[in-house]
Order: sequence, then C-alpha cells, then structure tokens
Amino acid sequence: MSTITHKLAGKTALVTGASKGIGAAIARHLAAAGATVVVNYASSREAAERVVSTITAAGGKAIAMQADVSKKPDIDRLFAEAKAAFGRIDILVNNAGIFDFAPLAEVTETHFHRQFDLNVLGLLLASQQAAAQFEPEAGGVIINISSLVSTAAPAGASVYSATKAAVDAISRSLAKELGPRRIRVNSLNPGMVETEGFHAAGFEGSDFQKDVVSRTPLGRIGQPDDIGRVAVFLASDDSGWVTGQSLPVSGGSS
Ligand code: NAP
Repeated sequence: MSTITHKLAGKTALVTGASKGIGAAIARHLAAAGATVVVNYASSREAAERVVSTITAAGGKAIAMQADVSKKPDIDRLFAEAKAAFGRIDILVNNAGIFDFAPLAEVTETHFHRQFDLNVLGLLLASQQAAAQFEPEAGGVIINISSLVSTAAPAGASVYSATKAAVDAISRSLAKELGPRRIRVNSLNPGMVETEGFHAAGFEGSDFQKDVVSRTPLGRIGQPDDIGRVAVFLASDDSGWVTGQSLPVSGGSS
C-alpha cells in the first residue's frame, strides 16, 4: 500500500465516515491508487486527521472535512467545500452508517429514524450532490457500502437490515437512472468486519461472531483492508462495465 499506482490518478474521491473502520481503509486504498481523497467525519476530527497523515506520509493526497451526512445542510456544505478545494468529484463512497441491533419490542421511532436518516436518506442526498457535480464527459462512480444483512436479515436486526436492503434497491435504481450519464452505481456488501463500530457493538468474542465464522468458508471475519481493496476495483475502470450490482465481500458467508 505504500507504493502509489495510477489506477485512479487524477480522480477525486469523497468517502463519508472515513475517520474509522471500513471508511478509513477505503480512503487509504483509494489514495494509494492515486486518487485525491476527501476524508469525511462527523465528530472524530483527530482520527480523520490520522487517516490524512497516513495517506500523505505514503505520498498520497487527502484532506479531512467535517459534516454530519444525515443532515442536508451539512451534506450541501461538504460538497461545496470539496468542490472549492479540488474543483471536481469523480468518486463518491457512501460509507457512513450506523448499525444498531434491536428486537421488535425495542424498536422506537428514534431507533428507526437514526438509522434511516443516515444509512438511507443521507446516502441519497449525498448521491444527489455527487451526480450534480460529476463532469458530464467524465461520468462518475458511486459506491454504496451496504451489508450482507440486506439479504441475510438476522433476527433482532429488522431496522438495520431494512436500511441496507433499501441501499441495494437504491443502487439498482440509480444505476438505471444515471447510466446514460456514464455514472456507475454499485453496492459493496461486507460481511462481519473488525472495526471500531464492531468493537463498540460488543461483537468481539460474541456468539454472533462465532456463528458468522462457523458459516464462513474462509474461516475468519473481515478486516477493513479486505473491503478497501474491493472498493478500488469498483472505483476504477477495471469495473467499467459493472453497474447496479450488489457485491458480497464476506469470505464466502451469505
Ligand atoms: P465504524 O467503525 O462505526 O465507523 C463509522 C464511521 O462513520 C466513522 O468514521 C464515523 O465518524 C462515521 N459516521 C458516523 N455517523 C456519521 C455521520 N452522521 N456523518 C458522517 N460520518 C459519520 O463503522 P464501520 O464498521 O466501519 O462501518 C462502516 C459502514 O460499513 C457502515 O455503513 C456499516 O453499516 C457498514 N458495514 C459494516 C460491517 C461491520 O461488520 N463492521 C459489516 C457490513 C457493513 P465519527 O467517528 O466522526 O462519528
């Protein structure tokens, strides 16, 4: 990862929720492939600055930008600032997301809106901004970080699973709507990945983790770099004829 290759040279990528976990790895891998990266975060400024430092120390280009991407005014400001800084956006990775498991009896309006406002509405509004900014001749790429739960839908995770099923449907619909403008839209669907969010949810050592590993042909949960590498594929011309797909990246579990 320390060697800069040129697959994404000249491209600018905006990665939401890139201060930690999967988003941070995606930002590092896109930068290592030559993209200039906007590292978005909501509140973890120091963590975002560390991601930027790692990228610049390896010879890449990145800048941290704060915005709560569940809120339209913040999203509009983020894209205006990104355009002011780099003049163009070519790649949007909608990664920021909350996973909050709760059985039906504990589902509240707050639980619902907190996840849908970020995982679904924020993703749509960010995509709207990106599609308006992509240069007509160049087209663009939108990668939506979904989840295996969009189809696996584990017990006690109805709202989170519903947000990710919505994300997959949005990817398929926007791929048709935006394809004529050479904008590709795909979902990347990770299985269980060891991130800050994974630890905060208490999954480490849990029966849930053991069950996932027992059903995973490659015998382990994922690491953020497993996802970052696939994001480069979906962002680059290597996937130039791929759109409207949901790509599981899960060690073979389903
Ligand atoms: P994580 O470790 O909890 O990190 C979440 C990131 O999102 C942080 O950088 C956080 O920034 C940012 N974020 C949270 N709310 C935000 C908001 N309103 N606006 C902007 N940024 C916000 O999460 P993760 O495990 O890497 O998950 C990332 C994505 O992958 C999510 O969409 C998740 O659903 C999906 N996913 C995760 C797994 C897994 O097992 N980890 C599996 C499948 C799919 P701050 O710290 O600044 O708030």
